[in-house]
Amino acid sequence: MKILVLNCGSSSAKFAVIDPESGEEFISGIAQRLGSPQASLDWKFGGKKETKELPGADHDQALREVVALLHETKLADGLRGVGHRVLHAGTKFSGSRLATPDVIAKTEECIPLGPLHNPPNLLGIKIAEQLFPGLKNVAVFDTAFHQTMPPRAYRYAVPAEWHDKFMVRRYGFHGTSHRFVAGQTIKQFGLDPNNSAVITVHLGNGCSCAAVQNGKCVDTTMGLTPLEGVVMGTRCGSVDPALVGYMSKNLGKSAEEIVDFMNKKCGLLGLSGLSNDMRTLVEAKDKGHEGARLAIEVFCYVLAKHIAGLAVPLGRVDVMAFTGGIGENSWPIRAQLMGHLAFLGLSLDEAANRANGKDTGGRISRETKPQAVIVPTNEELMIARDTAEIVGAS
Ligand code: AMP
Repeated sequence: MKILVLNCGSSSAKFAVIDPESGEEFISGIAQRLGSPQASLDWKFGGKKETKELPGADHDQALREVVALLHETKLADGLRGVGHRVLHAGTKFSGSRLATPDVIAKTEECIPLGPLHNPPNLLGIKIAEQLFPGLKNVAVFDTAFHQTMPPRAYRYAVPAEWHDKFMVRRYGFHGTSHRFVAGQTIKQFGLDPNNSAVITVHLGNGCSCAAVQNGKCVDTTMGLTPLEGVVMGTRCGSVDPALVGYMSKNLGKSAEEIVDFMNKKCGLLGLSGLSNDMRTLVEAKDKGHEGARLAIEVFCYVLAKHIAGLAVPLGRVDVMAFTGGIGENSWPIRAQLMGHLAFLGLSLDEAANRANGKDTGGRISRETKPQAVIVPTNEELMIARDTAEIVGAS
């Protein structure tokens, strides 16, 4: 079976054709800088990378190019459905859904919660409906996995009116990645699905952690928006909310401008004054760059505090699973982080950690509990699996 997976952002569209059973990826690519003279389509097929310039192309034109490519590569005929990454479902959906008019309408109602992402995500569904009239579309929501959080985890200490009228609560993001990694961890490391305590640690350019009890999310670090929680590439993570008013006055800028700055210019980038890219920072730190050293120190310390905090809802930690570009690849960051967490009983296997768990089946700790492991995320495969299941059942 073949599923087309689409992830439409404000100026990009990622795509892949995947076998949901074997996980085989037949083709993958990205249309970038859409709406600009530099728009282009890059793809990988049969081990070869190719690029096509698409000056001025919008989402519709780019996806038409993708369809042409799928015909050229003979992948279009075997498609059974299209799975879409959608950011925000608010409290409306706790799982993936067939993109019926009702589901689309409810996702549109969540635009105020995800103003930058939901519109292009929905546009992707609309275009796919036109380009693949015979195929069903499935929406896979980034917030859905976290809907099992209890009120004590998702409520902010604000009046009920804010919650009831303005939907103010914690939602959590990266849900597709946390669900994939938690499920894979339970399978791969022989945990009891009905009696397991896992902390999933997604460290990419965006970073978040989730406490997963018996396969269900009970708490997570991101909140109303992806700005809350740990330090990220360009996001500051949790700060005193009064900072927004304070800096708005100091700089003569609106609250929206300050929040935008906190999303795009803070985090590792702001702290280091150098880069949001962890590889660059680790290299710079080794060469004595003070900003890089401080950024890494704050990143690891804040992350450790959040991970330790997630042990509260779980009551114990069986496994801590690292994923994402940093989580899967950066041994010095994992080592520094786990230095802070030794009091939990975590004992790092230094050689296994340096080798990114390659020779130990992903395990990077000694046999003591909690275990630390690396589980590469695969959000596209998760979307393909959900799509196959829903299309098959509909
Ligand atoms: P992602 O958003 O999951 O693609 O992750 C991006 C982050 O992962 C960036 O900060 C990269 O510097 C980091 N990263 C990717 N590969 C490596 C690597 N081999 N070593 C250290 N960091 C890496």
